[in-house]
Amino acid sequence: MSDAHVIRYRGQRLGPRASLPEVQVTSECECGVRVALPLYLDKVNHSPTGFEWGYEGSGPAQLAFAILYHYYCHEFKSELVKSLGVSRVRELYQSFKRDFVTKWGDTWEITSTELGAWIDHQYEERDKRCQSTGKELSSK
Ligand SMILES: [Zn+2]
Repeated sequence: MSDAHVIRYRGQRLGPRASLPEVQVTSECECGVRVALPLYLDKVNHSPTGFEWGYEGSGPAQLAFAILYHYYCHEFKSELVKSLGVSRVRELYQSFKRDFVTKWGDTWEITSTELGAWIDHQYEERDKRCQSTGKELSSK
């Protein structure tokens, strides 16, 4: 992924936390693409009312999914990889929520570089678990 462009995801609260706080989440890439991050409710539907962060819940789950899914779509343009990306995102987004989204304060920012490193780490850990399980099985 050496020639991938860096995307910055940013969130901020526009007012005090209320029953339905106003939040803004944007994605801005080096390539010039700048969008309000879509909810992607057609892919996963936790929170039709919008994104949230800073706790465990449906709004944070929606945000975790949306960031990872947007990242995959933007990094990998082909339709095949996009469709594969959905299943990878489904595997990862609850962990991403716990590791990042639940910990964010009123404003936050994460780059695609950080995301990519975190995703690589998840798969390294999983590969290690698979290898150690294989050893246990073969030694019996
Ligand atoms: Zn870009």
